[in-house]
Amino acid sequence: MTFTDLQIIEPILRAITAEGYTQPTPIQEQSIPILLKGKDLLGCAQTGTGKTAAFAIPILQHLFLDKKNFNGQRRIRALIVTPTRELAIQIGESFSAYGKFTGIRNTVIFGGVKQGSQTDILRKGVDILVATPGRLLDLIDQGYISLKDVEISVLDEADHMLDMGFVHDIKKIIAKLPAQRQSLFFSATMPPEIVELSKKILGNPEKVTIMPEQTTAEKVEQAVYFVGKKDKSRLLVHILNEKSYYSVLIFSRTKHGADKIAKSLEKAGIKSDAIHGNKSQGARQRTLDNFKKGKTHVLVATDIAARGIDVEELALVVNYDLPNVPETYIHRIGRTGRANAGGVALSFCDIEERPYLKDILKLIKQEIPVIENHPFVDESVEETPKSKAKPQRPNSQRKPESYGKNDKSFKKGRRKRPDTQNKR
Ligand code: AMP
Repeated sequence: MTFTDLQIIEPILRAITAEGYTQPTPIQEQSIPILLKGKDLLGCAQTGTGKTAAFAIPILQHLFLDKKNFNGQRRIRALIVTPTRELAIQIGESFSAYGKFTGIRNTVIFGGVKQGSQTDILRKGVDILVATPGRLLDLIDQGYISLKDVEISVLDEADHMLDMGFVHDIKKIIAKLPAQRQSLFFSATMPPEIVELSKKILGNPEKVTIMPEQTTAEKVEQAVYFVGKKDKSRLLVHILNEKSYYSVLIFSRTKHGADKIAKSLEKAGIKSDAIHGNKSQGARQRTLDNFKKGKTHVLVATDIAARGIDVEELALVVNYDLPNVPETYIHRIGRTGRANAGGVALSFCDIEERPYLKDILKLIKQEIPVIENHPFVDESVEETPKSKAKPQRPNSQRKPESYGKNDKSFKKGRRKRPDTQNKR
């Protein structure tokens, strides 16, 4: 499949060739034809899949082919709402790159800076507006922006938006859009509140789901610890004290949990930082920078906050809580073992998380060795009959023995904790 096969027009083709794109990515291949037909789209995909071009190219193509004249004035005909300033800037740059031979103009607005230069550009007129929610509403209220001519709206990283507490802003923005429009909605995960929100925004959407690369799981050395919930923090301290890892990313399912983990590490004399949606953008950026530069070696994060973390040579990922969505496990462990470097991912599994582990094993189609020789082993996790493990999940066919005593990988002597070369 090529971009020509997708019926992309010449000025855009020329620009994406200049960007060095030879082939559409899977999300582009699936989404572009849907969007060029003017249909609504629900996209389950994360940043890094080529998602931006998947919506930017059809938007540019539509605006170029369906030129409108508002007495020589430009009006905002496409609106992209995205949670962070960094993402907004990145999206604006993509529109500029792919649209450089089309004459279509975009601008980016976000909070935390003075509005003057943003309103100057808006006054001159743009066709496409990329915005974070707060500043968008602010400039609408001040009369600098009208959304009445918007033909295409994109809500990007919807789960991230909710995590950052933007849900009311989003609803207000949606209420200001014309009813007659094409709507696109992207989210990396689809928890019930996201599905609910998407229903409010989309008509009868086509759905595109891009699964994360499953092969990532194969490059990463994985192990699971059966442990009681109350012993998890002591087990974590034990692991981090036993060996020095240069960079450790610990995943917590909740924001509150992330803070608690960081506190228990602090008590044990292990310096760490926590990053999640309750922290301000500035605080998160500083935490991330410190981690990237190696000033802090241990970072505790929720799944959504961890999305911007791109650290070369991340030595160890710890799943302090197992994710209830199995794909999330792959996202998490993919943080280590990048660029073919072998990484290590250790998971703590308490009795309630057993069903999650089963779903993960089913998805990755691999066994995960169980570490038995640690001081906080909770044998009941391994031995509890299926019926006692809560919460129960339907369709989990896998027998407990497949990662228990009869697990072949143990007999091959893989039961020891995986080793790493990294030093702290
Ligand atoms: P995104 O998921 O939109 O953040 O894109 C991830 C990265 O992939 C960006 O650096 C894009 O420039 C790049 N990219 C997007 N589409 C393609 C493509 N078809 N071929 C090569 N690179 C691409």
